[in-house]
Amino acid sequence: MRFFVAMVSHETNTFSPIRTDRGQFEARDLRYGGEILEAYRGTGTCLGGMIDGAAARGVTLVPSLAASASPAGRVSKEFYDEARDRLVADLRAAGPLDGVLLDLHGAMVVEGIDDGEGDLLQAVRTTVGAVPIAVTLDFHANVTRAMAATATLLHGYKTYPHVDMDARGREAAGRLADVVAGRIRPTVAYRQPPMLPPIAGQLTTRGPMRRLYDLADAMEARPRVLSISLFAGFPLADIPDAGLSIYVVTDGDQALADALADELAAAAWALRREFLHAALPVKGAVARALALDGRPVVLADIADNTGGGAAGDTTEILRELLRVGARGATVACLWDPAAVRACLEAGVGATVSLAVGGKIDPGHGAPLAVSGRVRTLSDGRFMHKGPMFRGLEGRLGPTAVLDVNDVKIILISHRWQTLDPEMIRFVGIDPLGEKILVVKSSIHYRAAFEPIARAILEVDAPGLSSSNLARFTFTRVRRPIFPLDDM
Ligand SMILES: [Zn+2]
Repeated sequence: MRFFVAMVSHETNTFSPIRTDRGQFEARDLRYGGEILEAYRGTGTCLGGMIDGAAARGVTLVPSLAASASPAGRVSKEFYDEARDRLVADLRAAGPLDGVLLDLHGAMVVEGIDDGEGDLLQAVRTTVGAVPIAVTLDFHANVTRAMAATATLLHGYKTYPHVDMDARGREAAGRLADVVAGRIRPTVAYRQPPMLPPIAGQLTTRGPMRRLYDLADAMEARPRVLSISLFAGFPLADIPDAGLSIYVVTDGDQALADALADELAAAAWALRREFLHAALPVKGAVARALALDGRPVVLADIADNTGGGAAGDTTEILRELLRVGARGATVACLWDPAAVRACLEAGVGATVSLAVGGKIDPGHGAPLAVSGRVRTLSDGRFMHKGPMFRGLEGRLGPTAVLDVNDVKIILISHRWQTLDPEMIRFVGIDPLGEKILVVKSSIHYRAAFEPIARAILEVDAPGLSSSNLARFTFTRVRRPIFPLDDM
């Protein structure tokens, strides 16, 4: 068998002022052809799983394009058109194909196109005709009717933090081989209850998503049920289809797929209030962290998560740490390329005075004037050690550590959420030795930080990935929808 494989991945926060253009993809990942297989083989990613799964089934992969950028504002129409046209041209040039494997996000919004993946899938379908298409989608996909109707199979991650990406990639490759071989005949049901769950309430280790997945796991064990994906959705996208969705695949039994999807939709609706989430105010959180025995205490800056499209440059928690004279604290990481350049020019050991952060997203906090010593400089390259992205190189761009009275600020040039303690270790700071670790992440940090943290406190600071949805002005999402409307 021959499968075409490609990745186009972006989670779009439509409230972000940062346009996602070609440069943003180049900074994160933009590869073509065989290089994709070399870069992703054996990594904890969907592509890594697809490569592995294809090898296990003796499938030859025809690699096309791998494009991903850090979550931010709408993807530029120019880059989207370029990526789609490249993919379609590669499909036409690929020769006879038995299947198409796509690693997509599911919450990509393009300038002028609300449903990025729906549009891309329709272009692929038009090109390949009846050839089956299997797609992995992020847990935060805002799945549309167009996506569900166009793909043969969708496979959503079942975990948040996303620790099953490679498993889902392997599964997608295996199921596609089963479809091609005629061993299964997928019948699909898709449901979209009127729910927009905030990010911080979506974790799958406990809470409502755990309960829904427990129900889905039991259903998956039944005969003729192939797979169930529950998408919590990405709420910070003001598009009609944002929010939770349910996708059930059975083997040749439409009535069963429909019945299970209805049951899951009703269960999700009944749990809607449990997704609501409250975090600690900044001052209270910092005071509590300092009062706790033991270390490290993680202060999760959940509203400034670059992984949810926030700028990654807000300063409110840092401001409070400096105000109260905290010591033994690390802020990981603050996105500020200009501050990094100033540190590079000054050199290691130099004392610099500058304003950090608050430059891209001043609506959520002003720049903060600090004086400190340049402790470390780095090219920002490190290796993810997992559980997420294990084996994949991380690239933070030029990176500096500025030490302000033992509050260490890791300044980075490429936006990336703090989901791996390696992002602290590789610049020479021992995360276990710190009293306080500020991490800019909503949920993903938990996979690697929960095992090492003395305590975790979620902080309700300002930012574009806030789980307080009342802070955003939605005008285009379908209404009524919970919790924007009290239903
Ligand atoms: Zn996600």
